Amino acid sequence: MTSRVILHIDMDAFYASIEAMDDPALRGKPVIVGGSVRGVVSAASYEARAFGVHSAMPIAIARKKCPHGIFLPVRMNRYLEVSGQVMHILASYTPLVEQVSIDEAYLDTTGCERLKGKPLTIAQEIKKHIRQEIGLTCSIGVAPNKFLAKIASELEKPDGLTVIEPDGVASFLAALPLSKISGVGKKTQERLNKLGLETATDILKLPEKLVSSMFGKHGARLLSLARGVDEDEVVPHRQAKSLSVERTFSQDTMDPEALRKWLLFQAEELGHRLRRHSLRGKTVILKLKDQEFKVHTRRHTLSYSTSVTSTIYAAAVLLLNSVRISKPLRLIGLGISNLEGSDPQLHLWEKTDEQVSRQDEVDRAVDTLKERYGRDIIRRGSLVDFKP
Ligand SMILES: [Mg+2]
Repeated sequence: MTSRVILHIDMDAFYASIEAMDDPALRGKPVIVGGSVRGVVSAASYEARAFGVHSAMPIAIARKKCPHGIFLPVRMNRYLEVSGQVMHILASYTPLVEQVSIDEAYLDTTGCERLKGKPLTIAQEIKKHIRQEIGLTCSIGVAPNKFLAKIASELEKPDGLTVIEPDGVASFLAALPLSKISGVGKKTQERLNKLGLETATDILKLPEKLVSSMFGKHGARLLSLARGVDEDEVVPHRQAKSLSVERTFSQDTMDPEALRKWLLFQAEELGHRLRRHSLRGKTVILKLKDQEFKVHTRRHTLSYSTSVTSTIYAAAVLLLNSVRISKPLRLIGLGISNLEGSDPQLHLWEKTDEQVSRQDEVDRAVDTLKERYGRDIIRRGSLVDFKP
C-alpha cells in the first residue's frame, strides 16, 4: 500500500490575527479576544501569550497577567467569514477537506503529486496562497496520517511547516513525548512516567494486556498510534442534511395572505440559519397539515443553491400555490435540503448576478442587526404587523 499524504492546517492565533489584520495598529501588540458572555479568553496573540495569557483563561486573570493588553470583543461573524475564505482556498487543492473547527482542517492530497507537486511543495503553496489572498499565517503538518499530521502542525507554530516522511515516522515517535498523544491526559502521563515510559514508542514496551487494562477500549487505539498507525480517513465535512421550521397555528386558517406571511417569516428564519452556519440549500420543501391531520408536502429544487431569504420565499410561494387547499390548515412548515457549505465570498468569485449578491448583502446586514439587537429589531415591510 502506498502511504497517504495527509495535511493538517491550523491557523495561527486565528481570532487575534484577524483583529490585527483588520486594524494594523494592533500588529505586534498583545491582543486578547474575549467575550463578556462567558468571561474567558477566546484567543490571544503570540505577544499576549508571552505573558502567560491563553485561551479559556478568565478575562480577569488575563488582565492581571497582561495589564497593558488590548482586550477586544469576539466578532464571530467576521471570523466565520474569514474561515470560509480559508476553507475555500483549501478546497481548491482537493475535495478531500475535513474541517474540524473554525480554523483547522485536514486535507488528503494522496495522489496529487503529479498534478500539484510534492507534499512539501503543496503545503508551501497553501501557506503562500492563504498569506497572499487573506493576509494570515497558518501552520501545516504533513504526515502519512491524521494523528501525526496534527502533531506536526503544532511543532513549529506560528507560521510553521513540518513534514514527517513515511520513513521518518519511527524515529519521530521514538522522540515524541507521551503528552503529545491525544487521549493521554496529565494523570495517565504521570502514571506512565513512573513506569519509566517517556515517549510514544515506549508504550510498546508494555504488555498489551496491561495497556488495555490501563486504557480500556482506548488501549488498542493507543497501541496503534504508538506504532504510527492511524487509519482514520479524511471525511469531507458531514453536514446537517436539512433545516426546517414549522408552526402549529393557534387558530386554523386557509387565508392565503396569512399563509404567505408565515412563509416569509419562516424563509427569513431558514435563511438566517443557513447564513449563520455558512450553508446553502437547493431544495425547498413546504409542509402543510390540515384540520384532519392530512399532510401535504411539496418540494422544489432550484437550479442553484441559495441562502437568500427572498429566493427561499419565492420558491415557497410557488409551492403553496401548487397545493389545492380545501380545508383550513393547522400547521405550516418550511424546510430546505440538499445543503452544501458556502463561502461568504463564493458568490463573488462565481460571478452570480448582481441582484443576488445585493440580496445577500441585505440579508447579512439584517442578520447582523438581529444578532446585535435581538430578532424583533427588524422586520420585512410586509411583516410589520405580523405576530408569530
Ligand atoms: Mg488555530
